[in-house]
Amino acid sequence: MLNNKNITLHAPLEGPLLPLDQVPDPVFAGGSLGNGIAIDPLNDCLQAPCAGTVIHLAKTLHALTLRADNGAEILMHIGLDSVQLQGRGFEALVANGERVERGQPLIRFDLDLVAQHCTSLITVIILSNSSDYRLLPRTTRSVTLGAPLLDVIPNADLGTVKAASTGETVRASARVAHHGGLHARPAALLRQTAQGFSSHAELHFNGQVAALNSLVAIMGLGVGEQDEVDIVCSGADSAAALQALVAAVSTATVGEQHAAPTVSSLSKPVANLEPGILNGVCASPGLASGPLARLDAIRLPQDSGGHPPGPQHQALDDALASVKRAIEADLQQLQQGDAAAIFAAHLALLDDPSLVDAARQRIDQGTAASHAWSQAIDAQCAILKALDKPLLAERANDLQDLQQRVLRALLGETRELDLPPSAIIVAHELTPSDLLLLDQHAVAGLCMVAGGATSHVAILARARGLPCLVALGTDLMNLQAGQVLVVDADQARLETAPDAERLAQVAQLRQQHQQRRAEQQAAAQSSAQTRDGRLIEVAANVASAAEAAQALRQGADGVGLLRTEFLFVDRHTAPDEQEQRGAYQAVLDAMADRPVIIRTIDVGGDKQLDYLPLPHEANPVLGLRGIRLGQLRPELLDQQLRALLQVSPQRRCRIMLPMVSEVDELLAIRQRLDHLAAELGISQRAELGVMIEVPAAALLAERLAEHADFFSIGTNDLSQYTLAMDRDHAGLAARVDALHPALLRLIELTCQGAARHGRWVGVCGALASDPLATAVLVGLGVSELSVSAPQVGEIKARVRQLDSRECRTFSQQLLGLSSARAVRQACQDFAVRPTHPRHSPLSTEQ
Ligand code: PEP
Ligand code: MG
Repeated sequence: MLNNKNITLHAPLEGPLLPLDQVPDPVFAGGSLGNGIAIDPLNDCLQAPCAGTVIHLAKTLHALTLRADNGAEILMHIGLDSVQLQGRGFEALVANGERVERGQPLIRFDLDLVAQHCTSLITVIILSNSSDYRLLPRTTRSVTLGAPLLDVIPNADLGTVKAASTGETVRASARVAHHGGLHARPAALLRQTAQGFSSHAELHFNGQVAALNSLVAIMGLGVGEQDEVDIVCSGADSAAALQALVAAVSTATVGEQHAAPTVSSLSKPVANLEPGILNGVCASPGLASGPLARLDAIRLPQDSGGHPPGPQHQALDDALASVKRAIEADLQQLQQGDAAAIFAAHLALLDDPSLVDAARQRIDQGTAASHAWSQAIDAQCAILKALDKPLLAERANDLQDLQQRVLRALLGETRELDLPPSAIIVAHELTPSDLLLLDQHAVAGLCMVAGGATSHVAILARARGLPCLVALGTDLMNLQAGQVLVVDADQARLETAPDAERLAQVAQLRQQHQQRRAEQQAAAQSSAQTRDGRLIEVAANVASAAEAAQALRQGADGVGLLRTEFLFVDRHTAPDEQEQRGAYQAVLDAMADRPVIIRTIDVGGDKQLDYLPLPHEANPVLGLRGIRLGQLRPELLDQQLRALLQVSPQRRCRIMLPMVSEVDELLAIRQRLDHLAAELGISQRAELGVMIEVPAAALLAERLAEHADFFSIGTNDLSQYTLAMDRDHAGLAARVDALHPALLRLIELTCQGAARHGRWVGVCGALASDPLATAVLVGLGVSELSVSAPQVGEIKARVRQLDSRECRTFSQQLLGLSSARAVRQACQDFAVRPTHPRHSPLSTEQ
């Protein structure tokens, strides 16, 4: 219960005092957050100045607000600009909502770290609802811990105590770094960030405003990648909210796991001129045939209106709650990954005030809950579709999903599908929850009138290996249920009248494909040797212990690349040594007796972390990323190396350094490992290897091989840096081809350098997963291929078809070619040649 009594605040820290207007920060000094006082602290633990309740503990742990029993709200902000430490150096000793007594320790902090990394250690103590109280200082020079500091006297003429102050309004501009702009997932991230603060936050763009508590309002602004937006925050913690939101807007999240098809397949569909053929866009590749089954959306009859609002509001509440429960249940099954992220965004949309308020307004005017909800969604979809931003327009599909789910809940409809085996599902536009439903049936393919290749449905279809065509046009709806179709997603065509011969051919091709996969899978557990007996280790690229376990089941001989970023992303603080050690050990344990190559953290460039704000760089891909980060944040790398040195057995653990460009970088880490191992009293030491992913490393391979235990070639970055083409550039995707002869020459140099010192060379970039490249890589001297786990069987099968001496001759010939296209063509010819060709496979080269 709040009372209206005077209280005394006792010094939460000890040290010299400063009047607020002398604090070197205009936000505090201007008094816009309230009246108070500042202490330049000499001790490292903030304690409660009075009894009360913790009403806000900043996520970054640098600030806390306590509500005293008389309603006074006391904000204590440790250090200036300390939010940028993102929690590093702060330890919360209490939790939000906790009742505390005077003198109780609240936050412990690292004095040195804050002093070194922030503008100042000065800590302000502010009454954030000052207008309701008078403050009388008890002392002005310096205080000892717990000494009386300020008297807080409620203004006599105020009958009630207000809950919070409005505080100052602050504003900043930021450029949107999120791929595709502020679509559902980045918008959800902004909303989540804003929720961490009590201030009201808005996004201003193109003369429009969206409150940051509304996903649809954010998406409705139509903000694209690289657009500049204004963020406006007002309230008690507006400065901190603004900083966090600017970071959230201007930091790209790590990309989707399942890449969209390449540019050519994303192009507009070809006009339907051929009889029996509908042209579309490939959203997920593959070939399938089967009977058409329609998945229709609910269509509502006309609403007569005049419904009393009370029961309609209740019906909407019940339906929203039931859909929320259903999504939460789905999320528990899905754990992590793309699908989970999609449904988490759906959950946030269901809470969206813009949507729900729009529906409620309609209900208040006498509209039925079903129609009110449906119309509110249609209105938002129309806004998104009008934005002329394909990625945002496709997010309307997520809204339609929720429209249908809530409608079904309102109408009491359950969804039980009666589908023929191998059905080809036809719909105007499928939604993510449709795909979850279809998981329970043996569906062969998906076809949609509308939709796009970057929609959430497309991502889910690719993850399931389901051929999927989108943008087939309204003619699709004229087809009859049961009619047999062929989905040739690779050619972006739907065959609506296949004859018996074509169906037999498709069935045969599918059967051959499935048989081949089954055979490859059956042989995947054995090692892969070329016909002349050269052993090629086929390992897997993984990002977690669960993926490692799956890779082992798929026959991986080891882990060729554990991208440790998985541990560092999507969180607010870095994992500590113990958490890292546990996670790395789990991967080793998941791989039975097989080796695991663990790459040290490779952030920077396209991979950014919330709590590791890196200096702004004009060209981050050429900036502080990979091993260079160790120069900026050595303690982060030391912590990871210590964790790695403590996993066991060390002989199965191999440490790999990303983005090495000179020998000194390797030597420095070797010395650091020796030092840390000595500190930890560890004698056994993991091998230390180097990623070859910048041309400098390939050119210096011989020198690096003197000190490295092994090499692994990162062809993704090696292509980017050799060809000077952004690996994520949509328009250049087809040209960033690691089979470029310049790259082959660098791979050759790397293998030669390694061989001089008896080191082995692997490839862990995407080229290793391309069966067309296996012969070339084996021929150039690579002895380990680290591939995506589902491809282990296929790559092992390819190795077994090869003769390493033929591969050697073949790869030498490729070095003389002049383009990636010519190399690819030669590789195709080599793949289909008789086993002992009489003619050179390169005879077609011009
Ligand atoms: C590479 O660059 O090829 C590589 C494997 O590393 P990443 O894709 O994680 O940058
Ligand atoms: Mg790389």
